Amino acid sequence: MIIIMEVKSNLVNVTVFGAGREVGRSGFEIKGEKSKILLDYGILVKEERPAFPLSTSPKDLDGIIITHAHLDHSGTAPLFYTSETPPIYMTEITKQLTDILIRDLLHLSAYYIPFEALELKTMLESCRSIAEGTYKIGEAEVRFQNSGHIPGSVNALVEIEGKRIWYSGDINTIDTALLTRAEPELPELDMAIIESTYAMVDHLPREECERKLVETATEVVEGGGLALIPAFSVGRSQEILCILHKHGFKYDIAIDGMSRTATRMIAECPKELRDPSLLREAMARVKWVQGERDRKKLLEKRGVVISSSGMLTGGASTRYMEKIRNRPKDAVILVSYQIPGTPGRILMDEGKYGPPGELRKVKCRVEWIDFSSHCGKSNLMELVKSLKGNPKILCVHGEAESCTDFAERIKEETGHEAYAPTMGDSFKL
Ligand SMILES: [Zn+2]
Ligand SMILES: [Zn+2]
Repeated sequence: MIIIMEVKSNLVNVTVFGAGREVGRSGFEIKGEKSKILLDYGILVKEERPAFPLSTSPKDLDGIIITHAHLDHSGTAPLFYTSETPPIYMTEITKQLTDILIRDLLHLSAYYIPFEALELKTMLESCRSIAEGTYKIGEAEVRFQNSGHIPGSVNALVEIEGKRIWYSGDINTIDTALLTRAEPELPELDMAIIESTYAMVDHLPREECERKLVETATEVVEGGGLALIPAFSVGRSQEILCILHKHGFKYDIAIDGMSRTATRMIAECPKELRDPSLLREAMARVKWVQGERDRKKLLEKRGVVISSSGMLTGGASTRYMEKIRNRPKDAVILVSYQIPGTPGRILMDEGKYGPPGELRKVKCRVEWIDFSSHCGKSNLMELVKSLKGNPKILCVHGEAESCTDFAERIKEETGHEAYAPTMGDSFKL
């Protein structure tokens, strides 16, 4: 006689495919007995070769969730579309922004990327648009809520085979000029996968950052200089634009690089924004740089240029940087997180810029203002303390020290099991 026993709660495995003790190539596989879901599938872009997350067969993949468009969360996803077409879930604006960011990656990368435009196209055709709310993915139910990080960003609560796993994605729990803060409503959890980008740093209060930005830009311009603000094309460029406009900055503002396309796309999605009219007004006064001739003219004038890329790894911001590096009246104001090893980070730490092996001290002014779209140290701990149940906590998406320090403090302050996993680590629930 065969006795069939009903299994109420299966064993669920969570494997870290990437973003273990590093910022970049986020990827987490959640595998039950009946379902397999992937949370993010990003790329790690550094000065050296790009690096990718671990892989899994796309055949039995019920769905890929992309929490937001940044390449460290989306950049390797097309790899699954060479032979299969697993459904991929993202918000409408994430889909549009992912398209331009990955196209740009394919276009600009000097190194081999293991897929082409065709796979990106197939991926976008396999996209199921999501908004805030609950969706069935395979046998799992997934609830998406605003993450307050960039337009279209969400966090994901996965209920799979009797287990509840919450993934913060990149998250910000304070309001910014552009976005409304994340306020996730969560039930009792079995696991939380939480970003640790700024787990050791409390940000300056937002108003202070805004004031410092406006003051610095004003000083530079009134001293006859050009202030270059390298900014991520998605989110930060629009935020900076809104802040300058909001504070009545009266000098010229130009926008260049991918920041232009992203700004126009984001303005088309007012529902994603805290105050859509602020962005629209700011856009109306901006000079949209059309090409090399415009750039040359700008370099002869005083004013502000907002341009991707945010860490000076390429794009139009580097074109300005080449010129202003030797001009003491000019300034570069870094406003984004600078990954170690990137030109932006080297400039910030050592005041040097140039091709590898030819780094030279710059003569322009260099400032870094910590405009984060991620929670700082206290906000992250508050978030952890607000979690219900007794979840295992994985601290990911941070430099090694941030992840390990965060995990230690969580253990001490909450008694939860907490880990700073590395790539390939697997957890059973
Ligand atoms: Zn992000
Ligand atoms: Zn990220």
